[in-house]
Amino acid sequence: MSKATLTIDLQAIADNWRALDRMTKAETAAVVKADSYGLGAARVAKTLAEAGARQFFVALTEEGVALRQALGEGTVINVFSGHMPGDAEAIAGAALTPMINSTEQLLRQFETLPGHAFGIQLDSGMNRLGMEPAEWAALRDIALSQNPRLIMSHLACSDAPDHEMNDAQLRSFSDMTQGVEVPRSLSATGGILLGPEYHFDVTRPGIGLYGGRPFTDARPVVTLDVPVIQTRSVTPGETVGYGNTWRAESTVKIATVAAGYADGLLRAMGNATGTACFQHEGVTLPILGRVSMDLITVDVSALEEVPATLQLLGQSQGVDDLAEWAGTIGYEVLTSLGARYARNYAG
Ligand SMILES: *Cc1c(COP(=O)(O)O)cnc(C)c1O
Repeated sequence: MSKATLTIDLQAIADNWRALDRMTKAETAAVVKADSYGLGAARVAKTLAEAGARQFFVALTEEGVALRQALGEGTVINVFSGHMPGDAEAIAGAALTPMINSTEQLLRQFETLPGHAFGIQLDSGMNRLGMEPAEWAALRDIALSQNPRLIMSHLACSDAPDHEMNDAQLRSFSDMTQGVEVPRSLSATGGILLGPEYHFDVTRPGIGLYGGRPFTDARPVVTLDVPVIQTRSVTPGETVGYGNTWRAESTVKIATVAAGYADGLLRAMGNATGTACFQHEGVTLPILGRVSMDLITVDVSALEEVPATLQLLGQSQGVDDLAEWAGTIGYEVLTSLGARYARNYAG
């Protein structure tokens, strides 16, 4: 077996959903956009539906259509990008709920799908998606007359609890939705952790389900085991990998493993310093030299015997560790995980 194996612990995802659900009095939805952050939306959403999730969020209509096929009837599937041109048939066919982001989208919704479920996304300061306060003030009465299912907004800085933006957005969202009887939603994973005033009626965790920060109490979800192809000794003065970025000062045993940046193991993770690591049974094994497209070279001098596989992600080392080494965030590490792995679902 020469492919690396990515194991996704569905039980851990369900446990993380339950843990986030227990933190609030609100309904806990689940964000499964981008194929559940790369982990497989159909499998993940079915698991969460069994755990009790009744409401899901995707980014695109196409994702919603695929998710409806996987889930069948009986769940709400909300689409963050709203009602895009040409999507009416797909939205109706898959019984999706677009989160309407603009006047243009609202008119499109009312013209092409009168009476069909929709929600409203408001911009409370992030300036990415949603209606601005003035736009909402002008449309509010007509929008509310058509019975929206949800009114939502999104926090820009919820991973930084002390950031003043959190309170500013909370006040903006509260002002814009004052006196509205429709269920409200403001918080993703970070917002859940900010406290009850951020919870409203529906929460929308994504990354916390998948074991990433800022939900530091999450159970780890992904394990990545990479086969060793060959080993060799390098002697003082010899170099390893492209660009000769690492040079041996003593004799070192190197294992070459079968995954690289084509598998989403970001090239920025490898460098001359050996800070990014694999693991084997509690032993930390530094990556030496550059990450190649399909290969990584690892210092296995600390092991008596070289095992068949080395572990990059697991219980003791998670997506946020990799993210730190690559100068990015857990979200990007997860969504980068490539299509070439043998994927296993556990739990
Ligand atoms: C991605 C996303 C979420 C989920 O965010 P996490 O930080 O992964 O919990 C929630 N709401 C919106 C609008 C999003 O784009």
